[in-house]
Formats: sequence, C-alpha cells, structure tokens
Amino acid sequence: MKSKITGLILAGGRGTRMGRVDKGLQPFRNATMVAHVLRRLAPQVDTVAINANRNLPQYQAAAGADTVVMPDQMSGFEGPLAGLQAGLQYCATELLLTAPCDSPFLPADLAERLYAALADGDADLAVAVTMETDDEEGGAPRRQTHPVFSLLKASLLPQLDAYLATGARRMEGWHKTLRVAEVLFDDAAAFRNINTLEDLKRHEPEQTTSAPAAPASAGMSADPDALPVDEAARLIARRITPVAATETVALCASLDRVLAEDIISPINVPAYDNSAMDGYALRGADLPPDAGADPVTLTVIGVAYAGRPFTRTTAPGECVRVMTGAAMPPGCDSVLPQELAAAIGESGVTIAHGAIRAGANRRFAGEDLKAGGVALAQGKIMRPADLGLVASLGIAEVTVRRRLRVAFFSTGDELRSLGETLDTGCVYDSNRYTLFGMLARLGCEVVDMGIVRDDPAALEAALRAACRDADAIVTSGGVSEGAADYTRDIMALLGDVAFWKLAMRPGRPLAFGQVRSGDDAAWLFGLPGNPVAVMVSFYMFARPALLRMMGVAEALAAPRTVRARATEAIRKRPGRTEYQRGIVATGTDGEARVRLTGAQGSGILSSMTEANCIVVLGHGQANVAAGDMVDIILFDGLI
Ligand code: AMP
Ligand code: MG
Repeated sequence: MKSKITGLILAGGRGTRMGRVDKGLQPFRNATMVAHVLRRLAPQVDTVAINANRNLPQYQAAAGADTVVMPDQMSGFEGPLAGLQAGLQYCATELLLTAPCDSPFLPADLAERLYAALADGDADLAVAVTMETDDEEGGAPRRQTHPVFSLLKASLLPQLDAYLATGARRMEGWHKTLRVAEVLFDDAAAFRNINTLEDLKRHEPEQTTSAPAAPASAGMSADPDALPVDEAARLIARRITPVAATETVALCASLDRVLAEDIISPINVPAYDNSAMDGYALRGADLPPDAGADPVTLTVIGVAYAGRPFTRTTAPGECVRVMTGAAMPPGCDSVLPQELAAAIGESGVTIAHGAIRAGANRRFAGEDLKAGGVALAQGKIMRPADLGLVASLGIAEVTVRRRLRVAFFSTGDELRSLGETLDTGCVYDSNRYTLFGMLARLGCEVVDMGIVRDDPAALEAALRAACRDADAIVTSGGVSEGAADYTRDIMALLGDVAFWKLAMRPGRPLAFGQVRSGDDAAWLFGLPGNPVAVMVSFYMFARPALLRMMGVAEALAAPRTVRARATEAIRKRPGRTEYQRGIVATGTDGEARVRLTGAQGSGILSSMTEANCIVVLGHGQANVAAGDMVDIILFDGLI
C-alpha cells in the first residue's frame, strides 16, 4: 500500500495569521511545524513533497534534501486546491495523501484507514471525519469533515484542472463533484491544526519556547506578505529554461553570444615544449651543483627561433640560444634568461650557481590546454579572451544559442513619446529607453512596441502580439496594487502570472509568469513604472532570467557583488532588501570606498546616471555604520 502513495504537505497559504513567520516554519517542539508533519507522514507513504509558495529555501532546509518543495503552478495564492494541483502534477504514484503543514499530531494510521475506505467504497477520494464536542455550548457532538486530510486518485488531475478553470477554488466544492468515502477517526485532537500563535504557545512545552529554531526566522520580513527577493529570484529561476535553438557562426560573430556546446580542444596548447624567455636553453644537469661550485661555461651550438626550431640534440656542456616561444631544443629542459647570462663572445655562456633551477622557464606542451579537454564550457558568454582561446585551437566556427527576442513596452495614459508635446500631468516615456539600453546590452533582439494605453483592449492586443513575436516580454508600469490600471487583470487573463509584492526597495511590485496566445507563449516580466525601480528590478530579476533563457550557465547569470567600505552611515530597515545608488572609488590605500548619490527616490533617474554601482543591503541587514563593509554591484558589466 505504502508504495502506491505520495504524501503532500500543504504549506502554500499566505500564512499571515501567524505574524511574520510562515506557518509551517514556526518553531515547534525543537523543530519546525512542517518537520513534525513530515515525521508523521513519511512512514505512511512512498515519498513526501511539500507545496509552499513562500520561503521555499527555508522549507527545503526544514525538510531535508530528499523532499521536493514546490510552488503552485497557478499564481496568486489560490488556496489548497492550487497546491493539490501542483501535487497531483508531481505525483508519480497511483494515490496522493494530503495533510496541512500545521497539523503536527496527524494520526499514524491516516494512510492505512483512508486507503481501506477508498478500496472498499470504490471511491475517488477518501476523507477524514471526526465528531467534535463543543465544550462551551455543551451540545451534541458535531460531525466535522477534514477536507485537507484526504487520500485521492492521482488520475483526478484533469478533473481538478477543469474545476479550477471554472474559477472555483473551494475544496469542499470540488469534493461534491467526486465519489467520496468518509472515514471516521476517534481522536479529534489528532487533526487539530495550529492556527494562531496562542495555539502554538499552548501546545509548546514551557521550556522550549525560548529557543526558536533558526531556519524559521531566516525568511522573516518586515511586511509578512512581502516576498523576499531571494525567493522571488528562485521561483523565477526554477521555471525558466534556455531556448533550444542554436546556430553556427564564424568565430568573430560569436562575440557576446552564448556558447551552446563545449569547445573541446583538438590539440595541445602549446603544441610543443617551448621557451618562456629569450635566453639560453640548456640541460639542467649542467647547472653548477651547489653553492661552493664554480660558475659553469657552456658552448652555444646554435639558435632556436619561434617558428624555426633547432633540431640537433644537445650534448652535455652545450646550450642553444633561444627566443621566446621557440621549441625547446632536444635534450634541453631549462632556459637561462638572457639577463642572467654572462656571454663569452658568440660561442660561450657562463652561469653562476643559483641563477636558475633545473626546469626553469620551460613551457610544457598542453600546459594551457590539453588535447581532448574542455577548453570552454557551454553556457559561457563569448568575451574577447574566449575568441582568442578558440582561435588558438585552430577552430574557426562555434555553435551559439539563437538570439533571444524580447518585446518591450511602457504602459500609462500619462506617457508621451519623444517628439510629442508634453501636456500638463504628462511625462516623457523614459523607461522604454532605459529598457532598450539594458536589453541591447544583453545581446537580445529587441522589439520596441511603444507606449500602450491603460486600456484593456490595447493591452490585450499588445500582449498577444508580443507573445507571437518574442520569447519574453518586459513591460513597465501598471503592476502595483491598487493602481488604476488594467495591466494586472489582462496579464492574469492571458496566462499564469504571479503578482508579487516584494520585500525590496525600490521596486516592490513585480509580475512574473507566462502569457499565452493560441499556441504562442512568452515569459512576462511586469516591472514597476518608476524609472529607478524599473532598472533595479530589471537587473535583479529580469536580467538573470533572460540570461538563463539565453543559455548562460546558472553561476554566471546572477549579478556579481563585490565588497566596499561605506564612507557614511546608511539607514536600513531589516526585513527587506534595499538597493541604493552609490559611487565607488578606490582610496589611496587601494581600498574600494562607496558613498551614496544622495536623493534615493525611485523616480530620480539623475542619481542613477551619477552612480557607478548599486549598494545592496541584504534582507536581514540593519543600519550600516560609517566604515562598515557593504556589498556593491558595479554597473560596469551590468549596464
Ligand atoms: P505605475 O506603476 O504605472 O503606477 O507607475 C508608477 C510611476 O512611474 C508613475 O509616476 C508613472 O508616471 C511613472 N512611470 C510609469 N511608466 C513610466 C515610463 N515609461 N517612463 C517614465 N515614467 C513612468
Ligand atoms: Mg501606470
């Protein structure tokens, strides 16, 4: 029986009732709540998966590497059915058993009893039921169904998809469409869920309350609803895949393109042992043996040039004058640099003890690259040095990923294009130019779709057209909560787009997901409208994702931070990531020092042009004192 069942812990809710920390991550009896549920569920099933939409890394840490942690496929915290949908999609066994993340006392025979009922009753789903006595009213016991404790057939997925497609979201409603077997459990307390911090305290033995588990607080945010930036980046990264198509281009044309295949060296580089210096090639055995020994004089028997080797084998007591890059003459293993040699006319050279060691200044064949070895790994962006390296292998063409096509447009009724007159209350559309620059720098093929009015039909048409034409769509404006814009509605209508409120500044709102039109689909990055926010959120979220789509290796896609010393105090509230515009310079002592550009308002683009870096103040970071080290991201290489 056990091997037929996958366990699914439902932890995908917003979990705001518990304050700052996600429900399943609440410290409980020396572990997290979800760890308790896992411990009870795991022995009853083949494998366990967790459905969570926030704090995924923390869930992973709490559950261990063997447990899959996955978000909803649908966006927007649509409730337990959305989690169930994700679970059914993942489920490789015949049956799925669900339990909520806040039920640390779930019965040890849950699977067994539900399974028996399912088999007996020829049902689609078996659900737990208890009789509850309401102490306060003293009345008769009430029958209580626990829809989230259920065992169901994995083959129900299409039915669930269809049910969700109608817009319905309630577990009970869905159950009404199925053949359900109810199973009465005696111990009502086993199904107790811990919903509030008071519940938690009540169940927590006194002595352990003072030691909260570390992982639970790691994702804490000042705004309990806001998603930490790392999590958003992870959620994006796990959905994005690189474009498959490749093309073979001449070496020069591969500059700034993404290598699609490893480049294997067909030869040794260098191809032969050669001299690293101008000087004299000699036999190491001829060097003066110890400190007391007299200088040695060797006879020069010829000259080796780069490209013109000296082929006769040297005998003891002989040496060959060599130029840098010349093949080592046969018999020689060391090179005495010219400046250390006392030449005696043309034909002799004297060497003192200690001038060089045997083997010095000799480059070995294959020391740069070995034949058959990976010279460049796929996923690399071709830089000038890479072109040179490939050329050094004699390779004239390379295979790169096809260019990514990215459509972009600005939304807003207040926007005016260049050349138009600026009416009162209007602004020139600057975001499209910033976006153009950032996308072009990434090496994308850009499709500028202009300004789209805050009008549902216009937006829908623009998104559909972009879907047909591009791999990704980047928009600005209209994604903030409560905005009098239609962008959110239309985006949600055309695909599975999540609207996040991020724990960051600037740039709190972000939309991410896939939009579809007929058979076409494109990834959508709905960036905020403020000119600075648009840049910061592009760099932090869209850029790494676009690089991944372009085929860039994971490790190279994330923005690279370096450390610098803050010359001034910086105010910072823990619980969100802040990006401030900075100017970094190297002090006379060689240390990088960074100061802020002044006004940090998210509409102030002039401070962005003044800045040469972004100071990144991490999620947990509090105020920075003058002299503290901070992380910065240099614009060079980014912009
Ligand atoms: P929204 O997110 O659409 O509410 O826009 C937030 C702010 O950014 C508003 O003040 C907009 O006028 C401004 N904004 C939006 N889009 C652009 C744009 N393309 N160029 C310049 N400012 C913009
Ligand atoms: Mg707007």
